[in-house]
Amino acid sequence: MAEFADRLLSWFDRHGRKDLPWQVADPYRVWVSEVMLQQTQVRTVIPYYERFIRRFPDVATLAGAPVDAVLEHWSGLGYYARARNLHAAARIINKDHGGRCPADRETLESLPGIGRSTAGAILALSFGQRHPILDGNAKRVLARHAAVGGWPGKADTARRLWELADHHTPSERVADYTQAIMDLGATVCTRSNPDCTACPVQDDCAALAEGNVPAYPGRKARKDKPLRKTTMLLAVAGDAVLLERRPPSGIWGGLWSFPEIDGTGTPAWAEDRTRAVSYQRQEWPTLRHSFTHFDLDIRPVVVHLAEAASGVEEGNETVWYRLDDPPPGGIAAPVRKLLDTLKETRHVANG
Ligand code: SF4
Repeated sequence: MAEFADRLLSWFDRHGRKDLPWQVADPYRVWVSEVMLQQTQVRTVIPYYERFIRRFPDVATLAGAPVDAVLEHWSGLGYYARARNLHAAARIINKDHGGRCPADRETLESLPGIGRSTAGAILALSFGQRHPILDGNAKRVLARHAAVGGWPGKADTARRLWELADHHTPSERVADYTQAIMDLGATVCTRSNPDCTACPVQDDCAALAEGNVPAYPGRKARKDKPLRKTTMLLAVAGDAVLLERRPPSGIWGGLWSFPEIDGTGTPAWAEDRTRAVSYQRQEWPTLRHSFTHFDLDIRPVVVHLAEAASGVEEGNETVWYRLDDPPPGGIAAPVRKLLDTLKETRHVANG
């Protein structure tokens, strides 16, 4: 039987993806795409990637941009630490490496947000260097092909998968092989309903032989996700709504959001922080947002300030955002949704 890599490469020649917008010999573009693809599928990434590259075509432009602009171009992709790390890493590359992406694994891995697999992908795809990768797709293919049980987040499972990744990575056509294993995982060896009859490595796939493909890769012992709750204040004055910038770390770090208020929903905030003499208060249905490690229930409280809320000054961290204006920076998906609802229901116009 031909080597695993040879079978994968023959399959890639016929079925692999060769027209993705980041398939260019430019480590910066490969890096941006790899970071976007860390938690997100190709189909979703493409429009974000194209818009991002139009605005930030190279390391120097990204490094020189304000973080708000970067987060704004990431809005909707989620996992915003990725964008903040990308920006921080671009600044380091610009300052310490003359704006050129480092071409060695150790330096790449020292940069924020670049782990072993992302470094391997950048080096393999743009420099043709032989390095294994172990992204979510490669993990799934390798775990199934060799029937490696256990959750890949566990150290011993990860070690075994890295050994396999290294073992199978060829020394020739390494860029094609890297793309091929990602493509196989994304299009054939999919999380659910894998198409094993179309798979180039089906003949010696251990999970298939066991008749137990869905058991691989192992899952993390399931704990019920904790539920957190918050109340957000949608303070509306005229045609504007108050947004605050969130602290740089933590959920939605550096993004713009509504102020969070006391869970009782008493708009003491409006009395304390504005000179509004009266207000109408409305509560909207709770909105649930799922993060990887917890769910967040957001209770939106809308307060229409009867008087221009000049008691709250605008500043670096606070803005009266007019709904038809471009966003001041990055905005998380549920906040965007609430802004859209405000717009649709014309609460602002009536405020
Ligand atoms: Fe995945 Fe099926 Fe191929 Fe095995 S045979 S690697 S389970 S697609």
